[in-house]
Amino acid sequence: MKSAIVVGAGIWGASLALRLADEGWRVTLVEQYAPGHVRQASAGETRLLRCAHGSDDWYPRLAWQARDAWRGLEQRTGEELFVESGLMWFARDPDGWETRSAHVLERLDIPYELLDPAEAARRFPGLRGDDLAFVLWEPNAGVLRARRATQVTARLAAASGVRQVRARAVPYGRGAGVVADGEVLTADRVVWACGAWLPRLFPLEVGHIEVTRQDTYHFGVPRDWTTPPLPAFCDYDLSAYGHGDLDGMGMKITGDAEGEPYDPESGGRRVLRHTEEQARAYLARRFPSLVGAPVVFSQVCQYSLTRDAEWIIAEIDDGVWLLGGDSGHGFKHAPVLAGYVAEILDGTREPEARFGLHERQATRGLRTSGGTLS
Ligand SMILES: Cc1cc2nc3c(=O)[nH]c(=O)nc-3n(C[C@H](O)[C@H](O)[C@H](O)COP(=O)(O)OP(=O)(O)OC[C@H]3O[C@@H](n4cnc5c(N)ncnc54)[C@H](O)[C@@H]3O)c2cc1C
Repeated sequence: MKSAIVVGAGIWGASLALRLADEGWRVTLVEQYAPGHVRQASAGETRLLRCAHGSDDWYPRLAWQARDAWRGLEQRTGEELFVESGLMWFARDPDGWETRSAHVLERLDIPYELLDPAEAARRFPGLRGDDLAFVLWEPNAGVLRARRATQVTARLAAASGVRQVRARAVPYGRGAGVVADGEVLTADRVVWACGAWLPRLFPLEVGHIEVTRQDTYHFGVPRDWTTPPLPAFCDYDLSAYGHGDLDGMGMKITGDAEGEPYDPESGGRRVLRHTEEQARAYLARRFPSLVGAPVVFSQVCQYSLTRDAEWIIAEIDDGVWLLGGDSGHGFKHAPVLAGYVAEILDGTREPEARFGLHERQATRGLRTSGGTLS
């Protein structure tokens, strides 16, 4: 029987462990805290699932397949994890990122519509869109209950035979092994899916992952500002995204502009005054009737950014793989990415060159923003 150790039970590691177990591997999942713990990127209350990725067509395919994969996970677990609310991209440039995205969606036969701002405001009462050229509407995009999905995935992995070890792992010399709180574990493959902890563990290999703090706000809004029926939204040029009130947690507003360098282990988890001001400024600009809404919930999370926002899937020694650099856009893809990585570990597929440990050119076209929150 083939064997694997996966280090890290965020959504990437937990999904991979589950997938490998489903395919008959003997799997050990090593995680230092409980799956869904507050420091991991996967513990955000919600994450968006969108297919638009500018001119790229690799990630849209993956995201579209992921929608079905999440539905499959829902059926296996009886949990509603994906809320298909639809998503609006607020486009200020008539010929910008959203237009390039629409061309790709058209080519891939992924449903979308172009709405004029008046129609968008009809579907999203309270939206101020007088600066918009159009709105790109993805009817099948939506919101994932992320922290819940991470816990559910880890639990299903355990039920599927994955051995779960609560320990902090370090590499075991050079080779397919780890030392987990003193215990040596070996396997045919080791995958380090350690999110923002990866650069500390492998400074030379992934020196180009930058970890930044990201503050998220949920505002108390009137009862009819719920998602659904309100859609999720992304404002690429203004670097903001969010959704209406879901599960009584308030309306989410997050900036995609990267915050200051951050340590996921020792960094405090209190949001900063200036990021609240930025979120409020966005609220006032796009949803003016919500000026003065109270913050009812907030979270500090971290991005693990590569320069080009492409992920890292790379073998650094025989059977030893790094899986990281999600660059703030990895949650939605996790169940399908797990299948892709499982094929690589099995030797039936080579990873795309884009995921290698080469020098990266700075670009942000895969992110949900092209500018700074203002
Ligand atoms: C504010 C914010 C908004 C985002 N929005 C979206 C979105 O809308 N859509 C989307 O698709 N994605 C989004 N993302 C990105 C998404 O959250 C990440 O891509 C995803 O959660 C990454 O998961 P991960 O498993 O790689 O990392 P993590 O969830 O951070 O998990 C890594 C795990 O590894 C464990 N670990 C680390 N080192 C060790 C060790 N030595 N031993 C044992 N365990 C270890 C950690 O404890 C942690 O649990 C967002 C991210 C942020 C921060």
